[in-house]
Amino acid sequence: MALPEAFTAAIAEDFPADLASSDAGDLVEHGKDWTKVHVPAPSLVCWPRTTEEVSKLLALCHEHGVAVVPSGGRTGLAAGAVAAHGEVVLSLARMRRMDPVDVLGATVRVQAGAVTEAVHEHCEEHGLTWPVDFASKGSSHVGGNIATNAGGVKVIRYGLTRNWVLGLEVVLAGGEVLELNGALEKNNTGIDLRQLFIGSEGTLGVITEATLKLHKLPGKLDVFLFAVPDLAGVLRLFREARAAGPFTISAYEFFTDKCLARLARHRNVKPPFATESSHYVLLEVEAKDLASLDDWLGTLFERELVLDGVKAQHAGEAAQLWALREGISESLTATGMPHKNDVSLPIAGLEAFVADLEALFLSRYPGWEICNFGHIGDGNLHVNVMKPDDMPKEVFLAKTKEADRHMFELVQRHRGSISAEHGIGLLKKPYLGYSRTPREIEIFRAIKRALDPKGVLNPGKVFDL
Ligand code: ZN
Repeated sequence: MALPEAFTAAIAEDFPADLASSDAGDLVEHGKDWTKVHVPAPSLVCWPRTTEEVSKLLALCHEHGVAVVPSGGRTGLAAGAVAAHGEVVLSLARMRRMDPVDVLGATVRVQAGAVTEAVHEHCEEHGLTWPVDFASKGSSHVGGNIATNAGGVKVIRYGLTRNWVLGLEVVLAGGEVLELNGALEKNNTGIDLRQLFIGSEGTLGVITEATLKLHKLPGKLDVFLFAVPDLAGVLRLFREARAAGPFTISAYEFFTDKCLARLARHRNVKPPFATESSHYVLLEVEAKDLASLDDWLGTLFERELVLDGVKAQHAGEAAQLWALREGISESLTATGMPHKNDVSLPIAGLEAFVADLEALFLSRYPGWEICNFGHIGDGNLHVNVMKPDDMPKEVFLAKTKEADRHMFELVQRHRGSISAEHGIGLLKKPYLGYSRTPREIEIFRAIKRALDPKGVLNPGKVFDL
């Protein structure tokens, strides 16, 4: 799609010379996220430096009816930041200013392009942190985390990104700038508009700055890896850890032997014990009393809650245990072609769901390798279906589309969600109705029309108008 001439002329005349690029490499790089389903094809990439420039740019796009895809660290897994139809990509990458930390209020105001890990480092010297944490923290942006209400490995302890945003500065489709909630913890003055933008995946406005709520840095974290016999064992151990463990749980992750085999092929790493099992648990805790922690560990073996297990003795070992879990996603991609899914279930219904899911794949897609892992302590399961080596990519994609419908019917029946933390984007859009009612989607559309009447902001994402 060619951009209107008057639009490109205005870009050249009214903005700094280095605002935009239509270089083929830039277009491909900035038109995609971590999904690999769509062919990136934006018309232009823009890197504004200030909210004023974002405002001016959006006003211009609005005037000419040019579609805009807001873009952060592009680590999303739902194609929410994919530009495949000649859109203008609005990258926040140059907007990474971080204000001094407000130590008394435990807040910090940053621009949307600040990298998650940089925010962590910025706050650390004050004994504070922004407790939004996941494997892609080295490249994901604060703005993208907020726009997608990102999850991650610490949700069980701190909740989703939504809980850690006090205020937002948002630019609307026509260029108008909204300042929402400032740095207030309490503000009971009607509809909380800030929450509309959190998780809206760039469809309602462009987040340019945010005031983040910070938490005290956790104390020393202890990390365990356990082998358990089956999924029931994963859940049994979880119940035990939550009810009787002498600590606060900060992560409760699981993965299967199939994930581990892929990891071993890619990175040649394995658990630091000999017992082989079908299910593994990574537990991270904040404990005050180390003696009772060791006692607790002993009782797990006595009561046969675990087949084997280790406690990391120092930070290096803890990192090695975490690498077993955090390396999975990359290993699946490096050793094959995974079709990823991210569902959540009420935790009490997880076992029945997984049993139904396995029966479904066995009957309809025999021979497919399913790699399950996830943040199971918060009910979040990542179901990864690996493409059989001898199956053409197109055939596989078509079959996974069909399999997704079967899986989402199961999710719906078990009262779960078809997207726990990855969002909807383009990938899950056809299936939104499995988690949201027609009336709810109608309300989405009404809100969208009110804020973006011309439909220029991230069109085609989450739902169609
Ligand atoms: Zn995840």
